[in-house]
Amino acid sequence: ATPTALLVGTGRGAQLGILIKGPEVLESTRRVDTIVLDKTGTVTTGRMSLAEVHVAKGTTEDEVLRYAGAVEHSSEHPIAKAVADGARERAGELPVVTEFRNTAGLGVSGVVNGTVVLAGRAAFLADRSVAVDDRLTLAKVNAEKQGATAVFVAWDGAARGVLVVSDTIKPTSAQAVAELRALGLRPVLLTGDNAGAAEVVAEAAGITEVVAEVLPEDKVAAVKRLQGEGRVVAMVGDGVNDAAALAQADLGLAMGTGTDAAIQAGDLTLVRGDLRAAVDAIRLARRTLGTIR
Ligand code: ADP
Ligand code: MG
Repeated sequence: ATPTALLVGTGRGAQLGILIKGPEVLESTRRVDTIVLDKTGTVTTGRMSLAEVHVAKGTTEDEVLRYAGAVEHSSEHPIAKAVADGARERAGELPVVTEFRNTAGLGVSGVVNGTVVLAGRAAFLADRSVAVDDRLTLAKVNAEKQGATAVFVAWDGAARGVLVVSDTIKPTSAQAVAELRALGLRPVLLTGDNAGAAEVVAEAAGITEVVAEVLPEDKVAAVKRLQGEGRVVAMVGDGVNDAAALAQADLGLAMGTGTDAAIQAGDLTLVRGDLRAAVDAIRLARRTLGTIR
């Protein structure tokens, strides 16, 4: 394509709510044959809410909510926001946290009232040899069957509660996936979340290939693996945890509603955070470069 055609394409992109970093990006956009979609905040709204609270023997709901809310309050993760907001609604003012630490893709920790509190997934607790009673394990299994996410809350060597957080698929995701398929792209759902939650979202979005329980650093490896199979990979994501994979992909698409880290790592930004703009971007690139198929 001529430089003029590329500039026109870039301008047309802006009108469609697609910010393109440079004209050369359209060339990679045209060639992609696989599209990796992050789940939380990309295929789903990422606006999670606290649905259930389960507590271990000897612990009160109030205590679990206040401790979990206090540590999650310092995290930007959509799950953390749901926990902190839900805890404040149900248990009032949250205590202060110090020594806050985020372990990407696993959970958070901090000191509340002199006690180290952990909030995160089962693997986060297992890594720290925390005991989990059967009642809480059952609550987690049931939550995951419904496609929700279980957040374990622990202190003093034992899990004290499970908070169930759920999210909903964006109304436009299924249509976008169908159109991406019609353009000849193979969609893959990639998430750090549990396999149950991933399957429920994949089913609703019409995605058959799912890679779940992937740590943030392993999202890059998942993209590399597909590239190793000779695929030209686009990746769509919104989180800090997606940034490296967006950079690794042949084409990185960041949700404009996502984090700055994702936007900086991406080659283009879908301003409205609507997956249908990914469809528009691919159509635009093919049209601009004269290879509609
Ligand atoms: P995704 O890939 O779907 O955007 P992440 O990689 O950010 O998800 O997180 C993977 C999993 O790690 C989450 O589903 C959750 O179980 C757990 N997790 C991550 N951050 C937190 C947090 N701040 N509080 C509780 N759990 C968390
Ligand atoms: Mg995400």
